[in-house]
Amino acid sequence: MNTAHPFATKAARAAYIDRRLGELYPETPIPLQHRDAYTLLVAVLLSAQCTDVQVNKITPSLWARAHTPESMSRVSVAEVEAIIRPCGLAPQKARAIVALSRQLVEQHGGQVPRGFAELEALPGVGHKTASVVMTQAFGEPAFPVDTHIHRLAQRWKLTNGRSVEQTERDLKRLFLRPHWHQLHLRMIYYGRQQCTARGCDGTVCEICRTLFPDRKRAVVTRK
Ligand code: SF4
Repeated sequence: MNTAHPFATKAARAAYIDRRLGELYPETPIPLQHRDAYTLLVAVLLSAQCTDVQVNKITPSLWARAHTPESMSRVSVAEVEAIIRPCGLAPQKARAIVALSRQLVEQHGGQVPRGFAELEALPGVGHKTASVVMTQAFGEPAFPVDTHIHRLAQRWKLTNGRSVEQTERDLKRLFLRPHWHQLHLRMIYYGRQQCTARGCDGTVCEICRTLFPDRKRAVVTRK
């Protein structure tokens, strides 16, 4: 390894990325519109294989019909499915939304629980969804890794892992815990705006050029 290079280590790259993303995105609004932890949980569930923009178009109609676990648990799966159809995977998502609402009423007093184990026990809720709710609704330390963050962590050589789980572990080790919340949002913004090319050679945008100045620029495939 060339230790003379200022960004030869993961720690040096992480420090630069943390600082630069903070400069680029001083504000970190949460992309999914919501009213509280419950509506955020449902919005995150809807966002699976769907854009946040599309989810934000759908949720006002859904909240107009029901926006609490109690009221949603009384809506039929078919009705929820009809409202959320433009988000895709509507049958599975509708079943999960109604089932998790009932579970919240029956097991958690109609409240979204503030814990990974309880969240991940809800229908349709995996570790990433639970992490989003923990950090974005409750301000608890969590580092949700979506496809953008997973790809950027690899392109920026912050992780050697191929799995999302390994990427999450590596990012949590590299970045200060109080930074996780804003940093994961900033990485999502950057990924959405800048790192969109599957075949990018890693020489196109600012952070890669800064971190890896010795990369030879090949054919630019980014559109
Ligand atoms: S240079 Fe390419 S790989 Fe690197 S962040 Fe930009 S788009 Fe992604």
